[in-house]
Amino acid sequence: MSNKGRVFSGARPTGRQHLGNYLGAIRNYVDLQEDYDCVYCIVDLHAMTTLAELQNIKPNTAEMALDWLAAGLRPEDTILFAQSHVPQVTELHTILSMFTQLGKLTDLPTFKDKVRLQPHNVNYGLVGYPVLMTADITLYKADIVPVGVDQQSHIEFAREIVRTFNYRTKRQVLIEPQMKNTDFPKVLGTDGKKKMGKSENNHIELSLTPEETNKVVSTMVTDPQRVRRTDPGNPEVCNVFTLHKYFSHDDKVASIDTECRNAGIGCVDCKRMLADELNDHLGPFRERRAELSRNPQYIWDILYDGADRAQKIASKTIAEVKSATGIA
Ligand code: SF4
Repeated sequence: MSNKGRVFSGARPTGRQHLGNYLGAIRNYVDLQEDYDCVYCIVDLHAMTTLAELQNIKPNTAEMALDWLAAGLRPEDTILFAQSHVPQVTELHTILSMFTQLGKLTDLPTFKDKVRLQPHNVNYGLVGYPVLMTADITLYKADIVPVGVDQQSHIEFAREIVRTFNYRTKRQVLIEPQMKNTDFPKVLGTDGKKKMGKSENNHIELSLTPEETNKVVSTMVTDPQRVRRTDPGNPEVCNVFTLHKYFSHDDKVASIDTECRNAGIGCVDCKRMLADELNDHLGPFRERRAELSRNPQYIWDILYDGADRAQKIASKTIAEVKSATGIA
């Protein structure tokens, strides 16, 4: 690793990635490699806070890593690994938990949301989630964490734990991570209402075949006011148009905007054009994915190699943390 500054980001193992993941995170992960040393972690321990996911964690980790690599993560530069493969993170989590007030954790809106969503399973991991996340970031001495607006409070909380730790140990061992605000768009799903996600079953997977992509895109909800082909439409309320803005050339977007408003184009044709753009754009990704998936062991080799490199940083941090706390 060089001295370019280190970025850390983690994501739960959700398996095959979709357009929302791609636009919201993956393409940013790929770009950040140009300017930073990047440490990207598939947070399988975090996923265990939701019991329903247990049996899927391992296959989802492999599928997600496969998609990230196919999209352009360079394992020779970037450290890509699974959270549980670096056990020092649980050690740091335990130590940092002694520097975190329980009341602050249970007051966090994100914890309250989880309690509301899974009242039958309010496990300790849910309460300690922000502490484990702080351990993730600080273990690798990350300077920068890319965040969207909805994640800023998590990083602010992590910074607070770091400040408390450094103040109470009178050592500046842990780095207060800086937020790098990224223009994470909120990508809506095929229903045109909710954020794209697997749990909503409104997603478009990157690894679909062109035929499957055509089929899913053809089901997308458009402007609800446009009932007949002859009705003028409002592209600004249509998610098909939003996706055109990401994947189609500006002149085509401008043309669709005009033609939709004067009913010069029908939604069936508009969706077909979007599917064509997606298939063109994702073609190289899909080829690379097919190539990588011929050797499933390769993905695990990459993850284990990433864990080895991550452990080198982690061991050093843990030694410094133990020394600062006086237990070593
Ligand atoms: Fe949406 Fe295109 Fe239909 Fe207009 S023509 S409502 S932009 S799908």
